[in-house]
Amino acid sequence: MGVRILRGGAFKPRTSPRSFQGLGEKALVWLAQAREKYGLHVVSEVMDPADIPLMAHYVDVLQIGARNMQNYSLLKKLARQDKPVLLKRGPAATVEEFILAAEYILSGGRAGVILCERGIRTFERYTRNTLDLSCVALVKQFTYLPIIVDLSHSLGRKDIMAPLARAALACGADGLMMEVHPEPAKALCDGQQSLDFAQFQALLAETGCFGFHG
Ligand code: PEP
Repeated sequence: MGVRILRGGAFKPRTSPRSFQGLGEKALVWLAQAREKYGLHVVSEVMDPADIPLMAHYVDVLQIGARNMQNYSLLKKLARQDKPVLLKRGPAATVEEFILAAEYILSGGRAGVILCERGIRTFERYTRNTLDLSCVALVKQFTYLPIIVDLSHSLGRKDIMAPLARAALACGADGLMMEVHPEPAKALCDGQQSLDFAQFQALLAETGCFGFHG
């Protein structure tokens, strides 16, 4: 389908301690196998600074999830290693706070940063979060950093992904992130926002988007 980057969670930041927490290193091994087999770059979230060496062994890009965008000790640790970082915007972070969080990582002069807009918390409940596309346009105006849009966590639903994907690209997004599962109804988390393969292929065709090439 032209996808270049595969993102999967091995250590999952779940709101409830009773929800599926991820499979840890076992899942990192699967990601690394997928990289070898399909020539993909792989991304996974790091939550604990102690896990950075383990994660760096398996993945190409380290993700900082929305909840940890302002975990400054974690950001400082990432500034001292070489893997690029996919930094997600905090659910209540301003654009300025988002860019400053990136500066924590960039200030080490080693790791590059890809920003990721994933929606912010507002009063609106029809979507999981409110996708703030002005953030994309502002980041393009104020920084040289690439920014992608996580449609799945922004919207929390599949039925309006195509128009929002087009809108994100029109605002200058460098890539789109979408959750995909062979059988979303059986997914251990976030099945309601995951596309099956046919839906994903249709969305790529509809938006003229063939994966993130950044
Ligand atoms: C995720 O990307 O798996 C995730 C939990 O998203 P966020 O950190 O944006 O909530």
